[in-house]
Amino acid sequence: MADNNKYDLVVIGGGPAGYVGAIRAAQLGMKVAVFEAEHVGGCCLNVGCIPTKALFSSADVVRKIQEARQFGVDAELKGIDYASVITRKDSIVQRLVGGVGMLLKKNRIEVINDYGKVAGQGLVKAQTTGEIYEADNILIATGSSNALPPIPGIGGDRIVDSTQLLDMKTLPGSIAIIGGGVIGCEFAGILSSFGTEVTIIEMLPCLLANMDEELSSGVEKLFKKKGIKLLLGSAVKALYDDGDQKCVEYEKNGETGSVTCDCVLISTGRRPNTDSLFEKDIDVEMNRGFVRVDSAMQTSVPGIYAAGDVTGEGMLAHTAYAGAETAVEQMAGMDSRLNLEAVPKVVFVDTEIASVGMTEKEAKDSGREILIGRFYMIGNGKALAMGETAGFVKIVADKEDHTILGLHMMGPEASELITVGVQLVSSKIKLEEVESAIYPHPSVSEAIKEAALGALGRAIHA
Ligand code: FAD
Repeated sequence: MADNNKYDLVVIGGGPAGYVGAIRAAQLGMKVAVFEAEHVGGCCLNVGCIPTKALFSSADVVRKIQEARQFGVDAELKGIDYASVITRKDSIVQRLVGGVGMLLKKNRIEVINDYGKVAGQGLVKAQTTGEIYEADNILIATGSSNALPPIPGIGGDRIVDSTQLLDMKTLPGSIAIIGGGVIGCEFAGILSSFGTEVTIIEMLPCLLANMDEELSSGVEKLFKKKGIKLLLGSAVKALYDDGDQKCVEYEKNGETGSVTCDCVLISTGRRPNTDSLFEKDIDVEMNRGFVRVDSAMQTSVPGIYAAGDVTGEGMLAHTAYAGAETAVEQMAGMDSRLNLEAVPKVVFVDTEIASVGMTEKEAKDSGREILIGRFYMIGNGKALAMGETAGFVKIVADKEDHTILGLHMMGPEASELITVGVQLVSSKIKLEEVESAIYPHPSVSEAIKEAALGALGRAIHA
């Protein structure tokens, strides 16, 4: 083995977990190499967070033009040049991916464009060349891929996953979205704004099942108003061709129904990228296919750490960043731990949805008595001026000591304002501390303070 193949850390995967872990390690003085089979930036920059938000922003322009009259502005939507929407998305992706490449270079991190395989404790093998790289520590950051459920007829043209949909150069006239989680809901909002007829088919009785119930029902109301058809509590049984169209057969309450459409999006979940990742004699403990880690991101094998989607923790870019930093700081002898108590979730439908901490149900299920405060955007001056009055802020607090346990929001800039909630929940702030703070006027953030006052039984504007 050549000496130049010896590293303090070899990272497998150059997505949010991999590139952030690599940069943090370089900051801590380590010699680092990153294996990346496709493009640095991973799912998030290439086919996830960023491209979907680029499309969301184009859809937002459409909505703004359609609503212009209510602002006293005459504007006409002449059409959507979808190929240009995709070109814009691609150029944003390229810019960010290039930026990550430059950051890795600046930090003197070697990027190996190949699949990496854990060949032993401290050993990583390059798939193409068979070359062995030696490392004191290995960080597995291989992420996840779209999972296809075992439904008869799945596969074939115009039955796509989120990655393929992001690459389509023309808009479908109609689409059936199987799965009403975050990815399904985001695409439903975007495509519907562009004029595609959208049906969501979801097996569970609600959309966004892992968020607070009031957020789920808020999104359902918004989607129905927009003309999106919702088939909740409906299990897809088969897909087949119907002439030029696709037919999705489902069962709801024992009855069979079908949706005919131009295209089908499968957004039923993600699976960890662990196929052929380990040589046969490496016995890393797994958990339902994900790499099992402790709060230090250490796997069952000393010197092998994992972070990001491959661990199943959070399945979000920001938990991937945090997990990777934790892993690398542990390698450097620091006692970092990944704390998932205050991880924000954001969803971009027509308006924004954001959540942090316990939902009302989780707080009740924990055996606590709770206080709930709500404030509706219709009573918020800034939201009214912006023409975005659908939504609310809901605060969940402990009844005994008034500690804020969760914050759930739907409305303008919720993805930004949830950062306030992250601080409230992670610092275990009490309702009275929000009560005594002065929030700016006019701002949407005032709704957070009003919700806290509401939980104390003394809202001013409600
Ligand atoms: P990944 O981003 O999957 O990166 C893993 C990398 O490893 C990939 O580049 C892959 O090519 C590489 N790789 C895999 N195996 C190997 C190997 N053996 N050798 C070498 N390289 C390998 N999260 C949010 O927080 N906010 C959002 O708004 C959001 N929107 C999303 C929208 C969509 C449509 C999707 C699909 C996901 C979205 N996510 C969002 C989730 C987010 O993208 C992931 O949580 C995040 O990318 C996980 O980062 P990661 O580094 O763990 O894995």
